[in-house]
Amino acid sequence: MKKLEVKRIIVPLKENPYPVYIGNSILSQLPELIEVSFPQRNIFVVIDGNIDRTWGRIIRKILSASAKKITFYKLTPGESSKNYLELNKIYTALLDGNYGRDTLLISIGGGVTGDLSGFAASSFMRGISLIHIPTTLLAAVDSSIGGKTGINFLKKKNMIGAFYQPAFVFIDTNFFTTLPHQEIISGAGEIIKYAYLSDRNFFNYLQKNFDSLIKLQPDVINESVIKSVSIKASVVSQDEKESGLRQILNLGHTFAHAFETGLNFKIKHGEAVAAGIISALILSNKLELLSTRNMNEYLSLPSKIRPPKNLGNLKPESIYNLMLTDKKNRDGKIKFVLLKGIGELVLGAEAAKLEIFTSLQEAKEYY
Ligand code: ADP
Ligand code: ZN
Repeated sequence: MKKLEVKRIIVPLKENPYPVYIGNSILSQLPELIEVSFPQRNIFVVIDGNIDRTWGRIIRKILSASAKKITFYKLTPGESSKNYLELNKIYTALLDGNYGRDTLLISIGGGVTGDLSGFAASSFMRGISLIHIPTTLLAAVDSSIGGKTGINFLKKKNMIGAFYQPAFVFIDTNFFTTLPHQEIISGAGEIIKYAYLSDRNFFNYLQKNFDSLIKLQPDVINESVIKSVSIKASVVSQDEKESGLRQILNLGHTFAHAFETGLNFKIKHGEAVAAGIISALILSNKLELLSTRNMNEYLSLPSKIRPPKNLGNLKPESIYNLMLTDKKNRDGKIKFVLLKGIGELVLGAEAAKLEIFTSLQEAKEYY
């Protein structure tokens, strides 16, 4: 059988550059990648429960054939699994299975699975090898790239964690075919963000192909994931530990985090990001960074994503108060990532309360 094409993108970190493999229906090519890098083949898999239900049989078949020893640890789906009790259970299962320093930990699932098992890999015996196989569109274009791992603690998200880079990331876009529709929309919200960080071509491409992207048309989904991963790879490699440039990845996120908290997470992350980008574009215009003509043009992409109706019920006052608690603020001032043009970001921007309120009010017309 003809091998399906696999795109290889390098995350060019100074210390340990690593590849991201991207393709459609490429799972059968995973064993040879493992065998080349990990001849000892002692594998511990952390797999999301929903993925195990839908894809477990084929995954087990393919991985078991190439392993010397293998254990599958099933994770209960959902954010509430990202805690230290679950971490404790993973360490215990590793020890019960006599796994040592030569273990290869493979994480298969969305952001929850990747963050938790990435942190387990970073800390077990001071660090074991790690492969990420993101199965949500959101995790593929965001959390699986860049090395952030962690768990929630005392109701605070990602309070405890580490930067820990995988040996490689393996993205089979065929996994996305079983995602609920809202998860695809959520991933698309994060993909749209990359359009503003790169160039006109990607912006125009997404404008033109948005419907095919949502329908997971293989060429379009592959192209969009490849482009998004390339942009994120380039940004994180220039600022591995988030001291400057990496902040551009937070476009729309100051607003988005407030929307998520305000709605008790009854909104998907990418939906909140799209609505956050709308607000950030309008605020950029109010601060005269962005012309009205450009703003109107740029608004056409994120307004294709319709967030839940109750977002419109959140009061500007409560969104503002939530943004005041954002951990990226300095000296009690809300900091925004704003836009002058495509590829021209303004970091650490500040705005008066009135400008923020009117932007939030006007943004409602677009979602
Ligand atoms: P994220 O959206 O940050 O990646 P999660 O890890 O919580 O977040 O994944 C979102 C949901 O999607 C979870 O319920 C998870 O079980 C489910 N899921 C992950 N990948 C797939 C898939 N390929 N098909 C169906 N459901 C999936
Ligand atoms: Zn995000």
